[in-house]
Amino acid sequence: MRSLVLIGHGSHLNGESAGAVYRYAELIRERGLFDEVVEGYWKEEPSLRQVLKTTASTDVTVIPMFISEGYFTETVIPREMGLGHQGPVPPEGVARVLGGKTVRYTLPYGVHSSMADVILERAREALPDLGEEGTPPTALVVLGHGTTRNENSNRVVYENAERLRHSGLFSEVEALFLDEDPKVGLWPERVHAPRVVVVPFFASEGWHTLETIPEDMGLTGAVTEFPENPHGPQTVHYARPVGTHARIAEVILQLAEEARGTGGRGGDEDRLHAQAWAAFMTMARRGMRVGEVLITPQLGMFEVRHALDEGIPGGDLTTTVTPEGLRDQTRRDEGGHHRPVHTLRNLPRGWRAVLSEADLPRAMHALYPAIVEEGYAHQQHALRATPWATTARRQTGIYAKVQKATPEQVEHVAEDVCSGCLRTRLWASEQLPRTFFDGVPGAIPCAEACTYLVAEVREEVSGKRGTGAGHSH
Ligand code: SF4
Repeated sequence: MRSLVLIGHGSHLNGESAGAVYRYAELIRERGLFDEVVEGYWKEEPSLRQVLKTTASTDVTVIPMFISEGYFTETVIPREMGLGHQGPVPPEGVARVLGGKTVRYTLPYGVHSSMADVILERAREALPDLGEEGTPPTALVVLGHGTTRNENSNRVVYENAERLRHSGLFSEVEALFLDEDPKVGLWPERVHAPRVVVVPFFASEGWHTLETIPEDMGLTGAVTEFPENPHGPQTVHYARPVGTHARIAEVILQLAEEARGTGGRGGDEDRLHAQAWAAFMTMARRGMRVGEVLITPQLGMFEVRHALDEGIPGGDLTTTVTPEGLRDQTRRDEGGHHRPVHTLRNLPRGWRAVLSEADLPRAMHALYPAIVEEGYAHQQHALRATPWATTARRQTGIYAKVQKATPEQVEHVAEDVCSGCLRTRLWASEQLPRTFFDGVPGAIPCAEACTYLVAEVREEVSGKRGTGAGHSH
């Protein structure tokens, strides 16, 4: 049995941030090569602290869904997942046994050698006659973000440029960057060929690919003519970013296979995980309430709906029949705001999901990530709470500031944020004698302050909380 975990950054504010990871998880799930594909996030749920608990097997491969190495892949993810590793990840990855699971952590997908093929495919999409006889000399620009903070983050762009120099398809290949030298704005001096194809080495379509790059290069669309450049007239063909190419799913699978090496038959079923879900499904088959939802067995299927919608005819609610449909239906509150913390009491109403027994666990995972595993562990006295001081001490970068928060400041923010949350703060020594497993729907443990609260405490320490200024999350 094998589990694949894809790790994304996520966002406290932007509901679209997790979209690319959802999409690749779905593509890989369809292939059926892993017993399960689970997503985890820095700023959404399941969090990096929770995600390993949500995996069903004892053989887990973790792939950071990042385009390059850097602070998140080398510092934040290994630290938050408890991998006992900091700094550059070796080519063979990092393997650890954690809580009885063998966990293999790989390099981010963007540094895999087959990314050169993805760049080439993007270039071909923009220039279908690439390499054909009689076509004018063509230059390739591989465009990276670049940052002076981590030298590894630009290395991958240079390496891919070097690989593609040997393809024989381009008269020249340049690596240029948005945020470091050589900067993208220099392209008219550096690039000589009359045809230029620009491939952004970016994870997704967004502000940089849609605005910054076109602005810095003077592009007006997919094809832009420059009649009077220093080396003569040039035509620039602007490709889509590599990170949204469907082939990334292949790259992820290759990375996972390489990480596994001669790893054998895979792992076993995780015992506590299996027990938690068996207990949950027994309750679901009888009908139950959990959090803000009502689960009703119906002719071998399960109907899930907001408990306040009890009694409303099904035809008056929007019906969805897949875990993904339920996820998308409940990603925003009724005001249209993103819900990074799923246990905040802002679940929208007006929908129902009709699901098979096989799909119910994944639907619950989308609705309330990790609550089954954590609720069951708490009931079994096996859930360890992490006090605020420990969480604060772990923080680095812009969040290191929360170490300065006084207990009064933390409590002040928690009273505001956590009072709207179903979870009970075990990390602040609150007591939770019973859980939804004992028939109390809203009784859900919170073992550790979530990143949303950490970010709010940071705002408080910075004196910006409630002013609407400088929100960093
Ligand atoms: S820290 Fe507060 S808001 Fe975050 S999950 Fe726990 S109880 Fe909910």
